[in-house]
Amino acid sequence: MGRAFVYVIIGGGVAAGYAAHEFFKRGVTHGELCIISEEPVAPYERPALSKGYLLPEAPARLPSFHCCVGTNEEKLTPKWYKENGIELILGTRVKSADVRRKTLLTATGETISYKYLIVATGARALKLEEFGVNGLDATNVCYLRDLADADRLANVMQSCGGGNAVVIGGGYIGMECAASLVINKFNVTLVFPEAQCMPRLFTSKIASYYEDFYQSKGVKFIKGTVLTSFDFNSDGQVTAVNLRDGSKLPADMVVIGIGIRPNTSLFEGQLTMEKGGIKVNGQMQSSNASVYAIGDVAAFPVKIVGETRRLEHVDSARKAARHAVAAITEPEKTSDFDYLPFFYSRVFTLSWQFYGDNAGEVVHFGDFAGPTFGAYWVNKGYLVGSFLEGGTKEQYDAIACTTRLKPKIDDVAELERQGLGFALSV
Ligand code: FAD
Ligand code: NDP
Repeated sequence: MGRAFVYVIIGGGVAAGYAAHEFFKRGVTHGELCIISEEPVAPYERPALSKGYLLPEAPARLPSFHCCVGTNEEKLTPKWYKENGIELILGTRVKSADVRRKTLLTATGETISYKYLIVATGARALKLEEFGVNGLDATNVCYLRDLADADRLANVMQSCGGGNAVVIGGGYIGMECAASLVINKFNVTLVFPEAQCMPRLFTSKIASYYEDFYQSKGVKFIKGTVLTSFDFNSDGQVTAVNLRDGSKLPADMVVIGIGIRPNTSLFEGQLTMEKGGIKVNGQMQSSNASVYAIGDVAAFPVKIVGETRRLEHVDSARKAARHAVAAITEPEKTSDFDYLPFFYSRVFTLSWQFYGDNAGEVVHFGDFAGPTFGAYWVNKGYLVGSFLEGGTKEQYDAIACTTRLKPKIDDVAELERQGLGFALSV
């Protein structure tokens, strides 16, 4: 048994939603496009799961955050897909792929063939077991990658009704979940192995600002150590977290955010891989000409930094999705993807944006005791990256445009003196 489509997207996350919208805008014919997703719901804006979804009052729930509300465009509800003749095969995992035959086999036993395949399988959360710690079965240990995880997390938060929450990992999930837990009146301890939070992006000065802010909200930080084991009660629930430094933290619930691994396994040995993802060219096309990859799973040439990178952020997933569809439907009119990396986060009343590359010498600016401050990165004489906390739309646009222009910086001290004014004057 099988069906054939011109275009098939594997994965029903952010990249799939934006790709579907782009196909629609370009006039895809009814019955040509199919999305196969392991998740039981139509593509949605995943960033909502660690923010609006966890609010104590009026939390965000579907259908309010289906794609493409994140860019203020139309909301693609299941009805939208139906009306536009786009087949949504939900709650269905693709079990295997044969890129030579151009076929996919689903867990329900259906064979689906394609002319063009877009791989948008995203990533999975790394599990503690992979670091030799048991606890996966405990009902009060939570991860956060998809809607089912978010429901579980929200339920555990509700059943604990405050109490002690231990958050493991000082990256994006750790920082955003710690903030959400505090807003829900939990007593939060954040544990991570490094000397500061967000070590891959923040300078120690920037990290200190956020750590102080979190501490002012009651979050405790335990740095430079890792979790080694849990204590359990007779119901199999975690009651305490044991750390390598010998300390024991009582815990009513635990949230783990220790990174991800891209879902590439369907294509290992069939497509060229790089940086842990599927290597694509500037058209988002893989080593097989009929297969494209987008979102967290794709390693693509980031022209502005002159390197192939895999980015794990929503703006990149959205734009790469649109680009891949343009490249598939109008290859002769589509030049190579020229993407300016953009990362952001919003927690409490704080909000930051980062553009470009955090390489080279750092120039901090602004008032680190006040609401607005930032940093530039200057590499080999050029401004390559910009960070801003507490900016206005105009100021964020200015740092984005300036970073895109990669201006030559002859005098770093002068850049520091001008601070945000430099970006506003470029
Ligand atoms: P995903 O959105 O993860 O979608 C992948 C889809 O593929 C899923 O539906 C999955 O079930 C499906 N799938 C996988 N394998 C198969 C298979 N074999 N068969 C069928 N289906 C399959 N980024 C930001 O820039 N800002 C933020 O504020 C932000 N917040 C985030 C908050 C959370 C809680 C998380 C988890 C991520 C956040 N991100 C954020 C990152 C951002 O959401 C991702 O970069 C983005 O979702 C990547 O899109 P994607 O389509 O590649 O993958
Ligand atoms: P991150 O990679 O951001 O952070 C994981 C952190 O956990 C790192 O600091 C890592 O340290 C640390 N770590 C690794 N192993 C351990 C361990 N055994 N014990 C304790 N800490 C450990 O991943 P997250 O899980 O926070 O986020 C998952 C994905 O979701 C990412 O792709 C992220 O981009 C995305 N996301 C993005 C958001 C945003 O852009 N605003 C918001 C929420 C999620 P080390 O660096 O040393 O490996």
